[in-house]
Amino acid sequence: MKKAAFAVALGLLLVGAAVLYRAARFTSRQMSVPPAEPFAFDTAGAATRLAGALTYRTISYQDSTRFDGAEFARFQDYLRRTFPKLHARLRREVTGGYSLLYEWRGADTALKPILLLAHQDVVPVEVGTESRWTEPPFAGRIADGYVWGRGALDDKGNLMAVLEAVERLVSDGWTPKQTIYLAFGHDEEVGGMHGAARTAALLTSRGVHLDYVLDEGGAIATGLVPGIASPVALVGIAEKGYLSLELTVEAEGGHSSMPPAQTATGILSAAVARLEAHQMPRHIRGATAAMLDYIGPEMAFSRRLALGNLWLFGGLVERQFGATPSGNAMLRTTTAPTILAAGVKDNVLPSTARAVVNFRILPGDSVAGVVAHARRAIDDPRVTIRTVNESANEPSPVSPVSSANFTLMQRTLRQVAPGVIVTPWLVVGGTDSRYFDGLTPDVYRTGALGLGAGDLSRIHGTNERVAIADYARNITFYVQLIRNSTAPGP
Ligand SMILES: [Zn+2]
Repeated sequence: MKKAAFAVALGLLLVGAAVLYRAARFTSRQMSVPPAEPFAFDTAGAATRLAGALTYRTISYQDSTRFDGAEFARFQDYLRRTFPKLHARLRREVTGGYSLLYEWRGADTALKPILLLAHQDVVPVEVGTESRWTEPPFAGRIADGYVWGRGALDDKGNLMAVLEAVERLVSDGWTPKQTIYLAFGHDEEVGGMHGAARTAALLTSRGVHLDYVLDEGGAIATGLVPGIASPVALVGIAEKGYLSLELTVEAEGGHSSMPPAQTATGILSAAVARLEAHQMPRHIRGATAAMLDYIGPEMAFSRRLALGNLWLFGGLVERQFGATPSGNAMLRTTTAPTILAAGVKDNVLPSTARAVVNFRILPGDSVAGVVAHARRAIDDPRVTIRTVNESANEPSPVSPVSSANFTLMQRTLRQVAPGVIVTPWLVVGGTDSRYFDGLTPDVYRTGALGLGAGDLSRIHGTNERVAIADYARNITFYVQLIRNSTAPGP
């Protein structure tokens, strides 16, 4: 008996020692870097040029017949007028009708080129919400230190910053060592199938292999990572896949005075409820595991203890982290019933009931795996399950954090935002970058725009705006990134 108690005590002691040892070795992964070379530019002028870009209604509508090509052409004329030196120097091509591909030929064409992505299109302003905007969404107003308008954050604040950076470097007489491509899609908000997909196919057909791809999908976030008060630069190393399933139930219609035991509506509702009750499993892996590795050491001791010892506290971390919708989205393939439709009249049994369920697929899961899961969870032959449209796509590969290019992102972000905590993370939406997976393993999604807790609802929502200071930092980020990536040519 005494021996057993002793063994238990010894066991606990060893576990405690292992936990403390691992917590002690769970040290910061942030690098110390010299600040960026000073770089002065006309911030007010750049803000005015961004404001000008926001006056163009380059809108992607779900209904493609509403697409206004002439407005995209006017926007592209504006880019030509605004960045004349860039347009004189870089080769410009159009793909898919309205997407732009620029090539800034490097001094050494044997080196792999880099690709900077952004998109020209924006989402529509929801009908009925126009009057809630402090400044009108397409007026290009500057007020209170912000540039206001649809696209300020998503994604003209990146597109224009890339162009500002290149225009400036070209006018300084700078030549990159490796070729730099800029690609600006025109249909990112509706899937990128006519823009980014064709640009990627064009580069592939030319045998291009890229050093790295940089796209939207990350920013310098404040107050968005629980347990860390200081700004955190999010570098997306993967993005989730996308799948919508349509569930339909057909039944005898008829008078509601003599209903069967189960109606089409009842059968469908039960199927949707079963999907919500049987969620895809949670996993700490890939981009999310990498993020915990990077942010864990920056947290208070108790959290560091848990995050440094996932072998013991993994379940606890999953439960705590997964308790919020945003944390949950980083841990599993999510299930979101988005459309329910049945019935036309209160005293008529519907002969058809239809639901659409949207899944965002965690890297490591697959479209086929989610379909199989849905069939198993619903387990009812009366429910027909079908993939809604061709927009289903697999999750992206996970880009390495051990690569020189991830280090390059980390270094550049810390140069332009001293003291910022850089972390890999999982982009839960989709970006155009997924089309370029085949051209390089190093696909990163970041930038130096600022994002506060209140800004998440502005993206695709009301009162989208960018702080002029953050926009200026974003321009500096691209300048510094290009300088760091490519030493000047001979
Ligand atoms: Zn976007």
